Amino acid sequence: MSCLFCKIIAGEIPAKTVFQDQYLLAIEDINPAAPLHLLLIPRKHIAHTLDLLPEDDLLIGHLFRVAAGLAKERGYDESGFRIVTNTNADAGQSVFHIHFHLIGGRHLLWPPG
Ligand code: AMP
Ligand code: ZN
Repeated sequence: MSCLFCKIIAGEIPAKTVFQDQYLLAIEDINPAAPLHLLLIPRKHIAHTLDLLPEDDLLIGHLFRVAAGLAKERGYDESGFRIVTNTNADAGQSVFHIHFHLIGGRHLLWPPG
């Protein structure tokens, strides 16, 4: 298995896990871009958004609710936050196991760079 996030999910590579359930893990990003920077990673290996199937719809909805809950419990609900996923080269995807960045704690530019 060569996938970094599959190895983290399997416990073969350490990570700072802040939440986990049967569907996903939330870990601290190793190179945070903001005071709040978590990665929400489905346990199921899916490369990116282009590979999502209808059967993944509940998983992704669940993931967004978990992400918003984590932001709220850390006090970022009023100030705001962003949930973003990158697909392929122009978006800067570097790990090809789908994941959603939860970013907050500073003013975020729009449109993104
Ligand atoms: P992306 O560029 O959207 O594919 O995001 C990959 C993210 O994974 C980046 O923000 C990296 O900082 C993060 N990352 C890479 N390796 C690790 C790791 N071992 N533990 C936690 N986060 C990581
Ligand atoms: Zn994987």
